[in-house]
Amino acid sequence: MNNELANQRLSQANEEMAKRLLAKGLINEETLKKAVALSKATGEVLAEVLANLDMLPKRTAYEELARIYGVPFVDLETYTFNPSAASLIDEKLARELEVFPLFSIGDTLTVALADPSNITIIDRVTAALPNFTVEPCLAARKDLHELINRVYSGHAEFKELLDQIGDESVPGMPAVKSQESALQSSKSPVSRLVDMIISHAVRDRASDIHINPGEGQLKVRFRIDGVLYDIPPPPKYLHPFIVSRIKVISNMDIAESRLPQDGHFQITIDGRNIETRVSTMPTTNGESAVIRLFDTRTMAIPLENMGIPEHLLPQAESLIRRPHGMIVVTGPTGAGKSTTLYAMLSRAKSPERNIITIEDPVERRIEMVSQIQVNEKAGLTFASALRSILRHDPDVIMIGEIRDQETAQLAVRAALTGHLVFSTVHTNDAPGVITRLVNMNIEPFLVASSLAGAIAQRLVRRICEECKEPFAIPDGLRQRLTAAGAALPEHAWYGKGCKHCRETGYRGRIAVFEMMVITPELADLIVVNVPTATLRAQARRDGMTSMLEDGLEKVGRGITTMEEVLRTAALENVADMATMAPPPEKAPAASEETKISAESVEKISLDLEDYREKMTNWLAHKT
Ligand SMILES: [Zn+2]
Repeated sequence: MNNELANQRLSQANEEMAKRLLAKGLINEETLKKAVALSKATGEVLAEVLANLDMLPKRTAYEELARIYGVPFVDLETYTFNPSAASLIDEKLARELEVFPLFSIGDTLTVALADPSNITIIDRVTAALPNFTVEPCLAARKDLHELINRVYSGHAEFKELLDQIGDESVPGMPAVKSQESALQSSKSPVSRLVDMIISHAVRDRASDIHINPGEGQLKVRFRIDGVLYDIPPPPKYLHPFIVSRIKVISNMDIAESRLPQDGHFQITIDGRNIETRVSTMPTTNGESAVIRLFDTRTMAIPLENMGIPEHLLPQAESLIRRPHGMIVVTGPTGAGKSTTLYAMLSRAKSPERNIITIEDPVERRIEMVSQIQVNEKAGLTFASALRSILRHDPDVIMIGEIRDQETAQLAVRAALTGHLVFSTVHTNDAPGVITRLVNMNIEPFLVASSLAGAIAQRLVRRICEECKEPFAIPDGLRQRLTAAGAALPEHAWYGKGCKHCRETGYRGRIAVFEMMVITPELADLIVVNVPTATLRAQARRDGMTSMLEDGLEKVGRGITTMEEVLRTAALENVADMATMAPPPEKAPAASEETKISAESVEKISLDLEDYREKMTNWLAHKT
């Protein structure tokens, strides 16, 4: 019955397809006859036969078929898949139904299918994803199988381990005895699972691990290059075991699950000492846990490798060589501020200079520098630590962050009394640092005389060097950007996606900067307390280049993409930027018809980035 139906659908699609191809003159009768015969023999649709035997370009064949089905075609060979959407369907179902979830926007989930005309399959996909409206699109069967293999292959190791765990405890009703042993023994499967998650995270260059219980399943995510990726979720019933094991190794109270807790542990992976900061938090679905990972041996990156534009290096150097004054790095959380601080500190280091830092946490060890860890519980705050270290008469002080008025006042006082002070605040741009300090009740004239300079920064993802390809900036985008006052590079690049970059086209990150040095003219304006916009205009007249300009320069050098720069650094002319289309991720399509669909794909990829960032922020605030 099913077979009969399938054959009927196949021949209907083939008939329609044959008619269209002949009408368009894309194929001759003889080739078609051969292909139809092959299709009947193999059960493959005509488009598949034609594409596999190179009788017709893949895109031409499948786009024609997609039109018959009334759905879009997605070429999975060049598709940058979204791991968090991928995890919405498990491997078994993906293989059985020949389906792969591509991305979700709001409650609409777009899925790639080998046969979107099969209503039974669509119904089963819909039933498996009750929270989504499913939007089908067509993909080549061969590509679909390859993608499924690639995406789910990393799961095998976990599966094996999980099978072992499954033998030892009953899902839903874990025996107390096995829970005890699971937690205490470092050889138990749960311990090994936790170890494995951590070592995978370290090897994947993750900065943190998020363990979040959801309604139906447990979510485990790695943050890599600032973006959270789902990893194969362990079964939900293991959630309390995993969290408890993490609490045990982090020296937390295992019996307390209704209050947030903080802890830490050290682990050696591949000979590297990894420090962690662990926090747990009760949620309505159970406890979530976040493990931040720090490789304490990571050397501070030399200033010239940080991505500071070459023409700004002498300026940065002269700021660091000053005997006193305050240098503030600014940007949102996760903008790489501490990396810049470490780079500057390492450069400021010399045998005759006494350097002390106050940090929360100490992320990297620097030789010949005294580093103090803030401990709020024990009463050691930024302010109290700063008060006491000033008695040790250091030359250079690094304060991890200026969060309150007291710390701000002490920092300014230190800067005015012969110390070079490095710190960070949270503002959008470099001139905003001035306003922020004034808002913390620092007299404007004290800001003018203590602040030496401010550096604002954002992190953008680096294009993967293995799959980097040039593309021409579309005329429309070029016009709009030029109209917005941006100097555009001649060429731009993007990452096609390969195994080195997990098909994302990106690998690693680099900062884009804006460096403001306090000139006498700027100082005069600070004293009379003018708005940030006026300060910014003066700083620009004094030669400050914006993060957008630095970003576009890095686009021109093929370091990052236009999309990344527009996403992170487009502060000025926000309204103009919002109406801009992102650059194409794929090669420009040939026909008018495909051009339209390519544009809508671009729109979706922008929305997706946006959505992903929202999710990331949401998680960052939640945990
Ligand atoms: Zn790549």
